[in-house]
Amino acid sequence: VIGQETIDRVRQQTGIAALIGESVKLTKRGRSHVGLCPFHKEKTPSFHVNEERGFYHCFGCGASGDAIKFIQETQGLSFIEAVRDLAERAGIEIVETANDAERKQHAEARRRQQELYDASNIAAAFFERMLSEHPLRHRAQAELERRGLKDDAPTGAIADALQAFRIGYAPYSWDALAEHLRQSGVSPRTAESVGLLAPRKSGGGHYDRFRHRLMFAVLDLQGRVIGFSGRALEEPSAEELAQAGVASLGTPSSDGVAKYVNSPESPIYKKREAVFGLYQARQAVRTGEQCVVVEGNFDVVSLHARGVGHVVAPLGTAFTLEQARQVKRFCPTVILLFDGDSAGRRAVRAARGPCEEAGLAARVAVLPDGVDPDDLARRDGPRAVERVLGAARGIDEYVIDAVLEGFSGENARGQAAKIREARGFTESIKDPTGRDLAVRYAETRLAQFLGVSERRTMLSLERAFAHEPAANAAEKRAEPPHRARSRDRRDEIGHEILGALLDYPPLLDAQEVEDGIERVEGDVAAAVAALRQAWDGQALQDVEQLLAKLAPSIHPFAAARLAAPRHDTLEDARTELLENVEKLKRLEFERQKAEVVEELHRAQSTGDSDREFALLSEHWRRARERRGLTER
Ligand SMILES: [Zn+2]
Repeated sequence: VIGQETIDRVRQQTGIAALIGESVKLTKRGRSHVGLCPFHKEKTPSFHVNEERGFYHCFGCGASGDAIKFIQETQGLSFIEAVRDLAERAGIEIVETANDAERKQHAEARRRQQELYDASNIAAAFFERMLSEHPLRHRAQAELERRGLKDDAPTGAIADALQAFRIGYAPYSWDALAEHLRQSGVSPRTAESVGLLAPRKSGGGHYDRFRHRLMFAVLDLQGRVIGFSGRALEEPSAEELAQAGVASLGTPSSDGVAKYVNSPESPIYKKREAVFGLYQARQAVRTGEQCVVVEGNFDVVSLHARGVGHVVAPLGTAFTLEQARQVKRFCPTVILLFDGDSAGRRAVRAARGPCEEAGLAARVAVLPDGVDPDDLARRDGPRAVERVLGAARGIDEYVIDAVLEGFSGENARGQAAKIREARGFTESIKDPTGRDLAVRYAETRLAQFLGVSERRTMLSLERAFAHEPAANAAEKRAEPPHRARSRDRRDEIGHEILGALLDYPPLLDAQEVEDGIERVEGDVAAAVAALRQAWDGQALQDVEQLLAKLAPSIHPFAAARLAAPRHDTLEDARTELLENVEKLKRLEFERQKAEVVEELHRAQSTGDSDREFALLSEHWRRARERRGLTER
């Protein structure tokens, strides 16, 4: 438990411009430093660091905070960890507020944990050294080469990647690591608790758990080694062993079974949480605002080596909720890049729930048949990979397509089963809008399978599939038209948006409100345009002239607001503005929907099924657009 005094001192004594300057190129501008935001992709700098206030703020994405927050966000540390890190930099001694007994206990726990990290790190360094020194290293090198990772040391991108991922070789031996750890002063018990050594079944002593394997180190978000994943290698022949002067193990080195052996759970390694490659990928993930999830460690390393840096893999498990949450700390979207085979599809379906629960938008990119991500990158370069990623589709659409595959070739019973399965899937979607969209997508696909002449069938099918559009239309018609009220509501929201802009004109330049500002109409839109003219990027020029340009309906409101801004911080103004933009979008969508429903009813009453179909398609195209989904 760190005392408040220490936290305050850390805040005071950290030069935030120097700290951020280590990773972001900053230029002095007025009273601030300005640079390209490390939290979102941008070409013109909107990231401001204010040394006096010890504060940073990005006008593009809204990221803001103090030095501690910056360290937390960029290094993926907890608050306490970030304070420790900064205290260490500033040479501040950490004063803990706990009592003596507690403090001792904490210190002891930390010391024990540190031993585990140390042991793992010593092992990783040993494996790395063995990859370049051991007489049987060529077996590991051959495996790397097979996966397009032929060491191009000392300068190449592949050598860099091998180093970044701490790739190594676990020697062909029962006790090479055990012996090395002993010499390094690591107790066998410590090594056992991180799964590096295992106790011998008979007699005393320990033996190496990883033997003759290509080793991938698993790092946590602070770059510490927390575990390993070891891939089996081809068994050396008796001749090879003799030549290398290495004694036979007596049994197959990799136990003849597992292709991969992973470290067991330990106090520092939680399988459900660890994400392979996230430490190395975190900067690219953050700036690209998305993270690619592939199946295997090899794909992560080789894509990284070829300049596709925002790639991670789950470690021998399905993508878990905990892993999804880790990724969510760095970006809002994942792209699942799995094999198109049935195992890959199962993996996609299994990943769906965790992503939804973690609030990660999930998309699925499909590789050409029989090609793995690494093949693609090697053959056609990173651009080809980006193209495949760019063509990723929403995960729900992917799942529905997978369920409906082969629909046309099925008999009636088989088709019914597929429809049931699709319905089961759509019903499992928690978000109502997402569920509606998925239902519509399934219907559209079914309509395609059933063919144009059978639209009628499709429409009746659809009624069985989801709610009744006819009933819906009747319900809507029963309501009196509220068009006038809705227009008033729009004006009201427009005023609020204008108000936020008057309070903080820099918001005019903020990227994320652009789309909202464009949506305001009429007098409000004219007022926004006038405001934009008066704003020179620094201050409002000639407020009187600005007011003169405003419509009478706006004038009193704007004058009051200019004299007495309602928002005290830019952040508040931005938040409210964005909320109002959302309201405006919803209103617009409701209006469109009401129109469609009215027309739909007309089409239904005249039995015009073509028109009905066209209307439905158009409506759902808009709904999808609204959700940021693209047409296929
Ligand atoms: Zn930003």
